[in-house]
Amino acid sequence: VNERFKIFPEQLRDGHVEQIEEVFEPVFIEIDDVDLAFKAPVNVVGEAYLADDNLVLHLNVKTIALMPCVICNEVVHVAIDVENLYHVEALDNIKSGVFLLNDLLREALLLEVPKFAECREGNCLAREALEKFMKKNASSTSSEELEGEGYRPFADIELDLKPKT
Ligand SMILES: [Zn+2]
Repeated sequence: VNERFKIFPEQLRDGHVEQIEEVFEPVFIEIDDVDLAFKAPVNVVGEAYLADDNLVLHLNVKTIALMPCVICNEVVHVAIDVENLYHVEALDNIKSGVFLLNDLLREALLLEVPKFAECREGNCLAREALEKFMKKNASSTSSEELEGEGYRPFADIELDLKPKT
């Protein structure tokens, strides 16, 4: 494990506040897929301190995720920005005397990843073509529905019966 991921609560006794300002290589996120990859450095700024018997971490975490555009499949750079991440860990849970930041950072970043991305900040050039295609498809199905409605073999019978009742 990268030494810089380590926080030592013992060093934070007597109200010492540790300033954190780190840039980590994104390999620790361990996600490098077609659907989601992290290749940009992860910036972490914040502080660590003790409050009662807890380690408190207050962090801002930033990086960039690579995702395919949901429409044209081009790679989109999605800014992942975790602001004011607070993590409180009971010192009793830090038996080894070392708290590792990597899992916390990974989880926080993954929570901020959007379900899908679109290139050109939501203005994918292929969007218009797709919308035309969708409209065309939608209108063809609705015209089929209309034809279906037009063919009602029993409609006339109902009309014939109505005046009698
Ligand atoms: Zn696109």
